[in-house]
Amino acid sequence: MGMTARTVILGAGPAGLAAAYALSKHRRNVVVAEATDALGGISRTVEYRGYRFDIGGHRFFTKFDEVQQLWHEVLGDEFLVRPRLSRIYYRNRLFEYPLRVTNALRNLGLLEAARCVASYGRARAMGDADDNFEEWVSSRFGRRLFEIFFKAYTEKVWGIPCSEIGAEWASQRIKNLSLGVAIRNAFLGSRGQDVASLIEHFRYPRLGPGMMYERMAILAAGMGAEIRMRHRAVAIHRNGTRVVAVDVETPEGLVRLDGEEFLSSIPLTMLIERLRPAPPPSVLAAARALTYRHLLTIDLIVDAPDLFPDTWIYVHSPDLQVGRIQNFGNWSPEMVPDARTSALGLEYFVSDGDALWTASDAQLVAFGTEELRRTGLLGRARVTDGTVVRAPLAYPVYRIGYRHHLDQVVEFVRSLENLQAIGRYGMFKYNNADHSILTALLAVENIEGADHDLWAVNTDTDYHEIRTGRESAA
Ligand SMILES: Cc1cc2nc3c(=O)[nH]c(=O)nc-3n(C[C@H](O)[C@H](O)[C@H](O)COP(=O)(O)OP(=O)(O)OC[C@H]3O[C@@H](n4cnc5c(N)ncnc54)[C@H](O)[C@@H]3O)c2cc1C
Repeated sequence: MGMTARTVILGAGPAGLAAAYALSKHRRNVVVAEATDALGGISRTVEYRGYRFDIGGHRFFTKFDEVQQLWHEVLGDEFLVRPRLSRIYYRNRLFEYPLRVTNALRNLGLLEAARCVASYGRARAMGDADDNFEEWVSSRFGRRLFEIFFKAYTEKVWGIPCSEIGAEWASQRIKNLSLGVAIRNAFLGSRGQDVASLIEHFRYPRLGPGMMYERMAILAAGMGAEIRMRHRAVAIHRNGTRVVAVDVETPEGLVRLDGEEFLSSIPLTMLIERLRPAPPPSVLAAARALTYRHLLTIDLIVDAPDLFPDTWIYVHSPDLQVGRIQNFGNWSPEMVPDARTSALGLEYFVSDGDALWTASDAQLVAFGTEELRRTGLLGRARVTDGTVVRAPLAYPVYRIGYRHHLDQVVEFVRSLENLQAIGRYGMFKYNNADHSILTALLAVENIEGADHDLWAVNTDTDYHEIRTGRESAA
């Protein structure tokens, strides 16, 4: 049996739920189809034996008033304000972040520090290069700093050499990024930048980000939105440029959801693949050329408190596969039910076919435990338990040339008059939650008659990490 819905929303992550919430406020008839049985998408909080883990750590800050207002409307005063401490682990040493000269010199040694400055000088004499990520960074910071502070970590995240990543990513992410500023400040003088402004506080729901989106779903449902879990969109039917219905796979079988308006926060490439009739072959080919990277988190429970003071640590050492280590008790003490223990999340970035992606949970917990031990962060403590969370398609890969393919896909999606793509993987954009939510709120305004270009969000706006300290958290 089908049902008629005015607006059909695919996906119950931050974007889908924010859209459902906003549409319900406008008294619209809304149905949300979510493939899994969890609310919040990548921003959900996973519970395991009373311990709470993020998929990565999720800070709440934004420069968009409407997003900030929404977060506060939903969660009221259940936010904690947390200081960020996130050092960089590189070759058995922890670099303070923002970098400080004494700490950096002690860790690198005078000789290496002198090499960094000399390589910076050589790079600056040659001028800026914009061919790819590697050239962009090396020409601005010097090759040695590139190798220490950018190369290994970036290649862990993207799974391809830095020379194959577009310079656009570097300029979006690093142009004024605190790390870049910090490196320059630490080694080369402040050049007018205020290091203190890099120290950040952020807001965080006391029970983790999932709390926000579970609450948002309850409020939207209270206003009439229908949120259907374990409803996976498998076919999106269109009549020319008008989408008419979505087939969703449910435990009870296939259900058809008719609607007048459609919002899709499912992966953009999946949307294209599942359109019926299919888009032209050139559009399908363009979508197939776009790739994502998965995030795998190995969550470990350790039998000792206060292992390290950081909220998270970046692992730049190339000999370790882990990219980041989260310490959830430092995000919120309520993430850890037993104060004598710690809850850590080890983040791994993987692609289809990688051994880690197909390993069993038990193998991964053992592997993560061993990597953690090798960092020395565990000391004499013991890992007592662990679990694994797999987040497919978490990172759109900005491989050189992706823009050309994406433009073709976007052009086709734009031609669909009553479907709007929203969110992070929904738009194949490295959107944070606030950008993802903003696209949803603007899409709702479009349904109400506005004419916003959603594809312009997070394109010209500065990446918000550069604003740290001044506008701080939501
Ligand atoms: C490691 C990491 C750390 C991050 N840290 C931060 C941070 O500190 N601050 C911040 O603001 N942002 C952060 N982000 C970004 C944030 O997680 C995303 O912007 C946000 O979750 C995207 O919301 P979304 O609704 O677009 O997509 P998602 O959260 O991915 O939700 C999409 C939903 O669609 C569902 N779905 C998929 N396919 C189908 C289908 N066929 N049918 C139905 N449903 C489907 C999924 O199950 C999911 O629930 C981080 C992201 C990562 C990966």
